[in-house]
Formats: sequence, C-alpha cells, structure tokens
Amino acid sequence: MSTVTTTSANWPPCRIGLGHDRHRLIEGRPLILGGVTIPSDRGLDGHSDADVLLHAITDALLGALALGDIGEWFPNTDPQWHNADSVVFVTAAAQAVRERGWEIANLDCTIHAERPKLSPYKRNIAERIAALLQITSEQVNVKAKTGEKVGPIGRQEAMDADAVVLLIRRT
Ligand code: MG
Repeated sequence: MSTVTTTSANWPPCRIGLGHDRHRLIEGRPLILGGVTIPSDRGLDGHSDADVLLHAITDALLGALALGDIGEWFPNTDPQWHNADSVVFVTAAAQAVRERGWEIANLDCTIHAERPKLSPYKRNIAERIAALLQITSEQVNVKAKTGEKVGPIGRQEAMDADAVVLLIRRT
C-alpha cells in the first residue's frame, strides 16, 4: 500500500483550524473580549490581558497551518507578554497566515459567559475582529452562550471561547 505525503507545496486549497481557551473570572480586572472592553464588575485573569476570544482565534489560525499553538509562540513564562494586549498575538497569527500564501474565508466563534449579557456587544466584537484580521465583518460571526447556571461558566468562575477558521489558498 502506498502512502501520499502531504507537504505544504501540495496541500489542498482549504485548511481548517480550531481554537479553544478558558480564563478565570476575578474582581479587579477589565473584561476584554475580542479586543473590546466590556463593562463588567469582573474581568479575566491571566498573564496577558486574558482576552479569551482572541486567544481562541489565535490558536485556530495557527492550528489551520499546523503552526503549533499560542503557548509556543507567546509563552506565559515570558515577561514581555505580561499584561500584553492580545491584539499582538492574533495579528501575528494572521500575518503568519498571509505570509504563507493563505487568506481567511470565514471565522466563527462562540463566547461562553454567564454574564454580563453579551448580545449588545456581539456586533462590535465581530467588527473589531474583522478589522484586526483585515477581513470584512461578513466573514466573522460571534455567538454568545451562557452556562445555564451550572459548571464553571454558569457559576461565573470562568469564561470560555471557541473559534473555527477556514483558510483558502490565495490564487
Ligand atoms: Mg488564554
């Protein structure tokens, strides 16, 4: 039986990437989701600004091209990323995608948060992400779900984010 070795030169014209992240919710931190500061009495804890959504998107972009994960690119043991703006991470991943000859077809994501209610901010967040990734807002969808008052999301101990991205080879 013969095997076909897939290299970057003969990859098919589409690649898919998946990202997931979780950060703890604590008092005394701003809540930043998708690069947008959301009014909240609590924010996400982390080494950087803990933008759980931009971290998931960064991992989806890196994952689509088998480029590892956000922890390899921006280790949380590196003092230069202390309180870093996560815009730096996601724009670096998007640049890596473009440099390798790929473009984003679409991005779909979900924020898991019990509160605050995120529906008033979803459009703003999608537009901000589109601007960061240099794509249109029609290529970005942002969904929000509660934890139904159960589990770490429902008890407001944490927020999660999921992201899936489709890349197409630039012609
Ligand atoms: Mg993270």
